[in-house]
Amino acid sequence: MAVISVRNLKKTYVVGDIQVHALRGVASDVEQGEFLAVTGPSGSGKSTFMHILGCLDRPTSGQYILDGQDVSKMSKDDLAKVRNHRIGFVFQGFNLLSRTSAIENVELPLLYSRDHIKGAERHKRAMASLEIVGLLDRSHHHPNQLSGGQQQRVAIARALINNPSILLADEPTGNLDTRTSIEVMDVFQRLNIERGITILLITHEHDITQYGTRTVAFRDGHIVSDMKNVNRRMAKDELAALPSREAAEAADAAAAASVSAKLAAG
Ligand code: ADP
Repeated sequence: MAVISVRNLKKTYVVGDIQVHALRGVASDVEQGEFLAVTGPSGSGKSTFMHILGCLDRPTSGQYILDGQDVSKMSKDDLAKVRNHRIGFVFQGFNLLSRTSAIENVELPLLYSRDHIKGAERHKRAMASLEIVGLLDRSHHHPNQLSGGQQQRVAIARALINNPSILLADEPTGNLDTRTSIEVMDVFQRLNIERGITILLITHEHDITQYGTRTVAFRDGHIVSDMKNVNRRMAKDELAALPSREAAEAADAAAAASVSAKLAAG
């Protein structure tokens, strides 16, 4: 059975006298354990689609069935429960609190949860999340003491805190260099393969779509193509083939020193 099933999904924003048709009738099924890359030009409806799937927004019309339940029939409270317990969100800008340590950032959703989880339990769960993304040793660092990739991993750890079965990510590699992007995709692939978490990831980068199991392309509020990825890229293998970060940095430093020496020599 599909975890996510949408039919004739439409979303129209009304801004003053203007109607913006962000989704014009989208149908799709996502199976448990899929890793869906959602792509398409800016303004094609990707974020709108993801916000509706994440229960952050409601469609104007159409059907959305999540784990067999009709989302349009859920009360506000039930929607909040779904959002908090079944779905994790990761955004491009990380959205970490800057004056707060990594572990506190990860604990944050529990602090605002209605489940009233005690401090010790919050801490334990946040440490477990940080371990999954390989950042246990950075738990007390503040965001400005972490690289972009590490910050995104903290954001992923935060998204995992409630043990969601679905992760939604909006341009999670948007601000990251190539190597760091591969490292972040490695985390998503591990969560998908080892933990069976269903992932939907928005990206406008063709390279990034290839880490998924399937690519759905949007244009003008419609899905215009939907294909399984035949040659899925595996971030783990690519990272193993790259020189280590230290070796790459040492090579950069040596190159810079050589340029300086040449300049000095005239
Ligand atoms: P994408 O994520 O592919 O860039 P979006 O889903 O953000 O596309 O936007 C689809 C269309 O809906 C665009 O024309 C955008 O300007 C419009 N839109 C998105 N959010 C809103 C909003 N809150 N109010 C009005 N228009 C919006």
